Amino acid sequence: MPNRSLRIAHLFPELLNLYGDSGNILVLRKRLEWRGIEPDVMEVHVGERPTFADADIVFIGGGSDREQRIVCESLLREQAELKAFVEDGGVLAAVCGGYQLLGESYLMGDERLPGLSLVDLYTDRGSPRLIGNIAVESRIAEQPIVGYENHGGRTHLGSGVEPLGRVLYGHGNDGVSGQEGCLYKNVVGTYVHGPLLPKNPGVADYLLARALERKYGQCELEPLDDAVELAANKVMYDRMMAGEIEE
Ligand code: GLN
Repeated sequence: MPNRSLRIAHLFPELLNLYGDSGNILVLRKRLEWRGIEPDVMEVHVGERPTFADADIVFIGGGSDREQRIVCESLLREQAELKAFVEDGGVLAAVCGGYQLLGESYLMGDERLPGLSLVDLYTDRGSPRLIGNIAVESRIAEQPIVGYENHGGRTHLGSGVEPLGRVLYGHGNDGVSGQEGCLYKNVVGTYVHGPLLPKNPGVADYLLARALERKYGQCELEPLDDAVELAANKVMYDRMMAGEIEE
């Protein structure tokens, strides 16, 4: 099918880029190019008023509490548009600080940071921070999702919200429920940095397939040679399972 393209809106890359989260955009871009599909990446900076009407994928990375405060006002101005985008099946991927901002609010002690209310979830800050390597079993990827988490926030899903998956190693949403991340329509929220997509090509293709389906209808993604990526994934997974990682 000639001349296909996807428009990726990357929100606040200069502020929400913890642990190389912007690497996720490179992965989406390359996996499209390798398949002859044109990536069109739009960076959105604090204070800008973009339109999401022609976006296919929105990506929000992680950030510290300080950076979340800075982007919050800008982000909330886009609430109605982002809500319409999500309800229309738009693909949105958000990591850690970005994931927390998808919900009703992020409570930091006495301070309440309002969120986008796109997904029925909320976050409060606990102690200690939940830090370390993480592995998650998820229906959206054949191999376990592996990566790294570092968050004070504990995220609680509403009863109708599906978790991204089950924690096999590490902490996940709150350190006790065994749940990690969220899935809602075509929204994927997760605490997994790494960045997420280089070591988890199945997640990247899940996002791309959903976006291509929405734009062009039924789609078969051309398979790619992911031997290196999957080997990197497996090394980390095996080390976690063997207890070879120091906390
Ligand atoms: N500020 C949030 C927390 O500590 C998110 C941190 C992150 O994005 N890694 O919970």
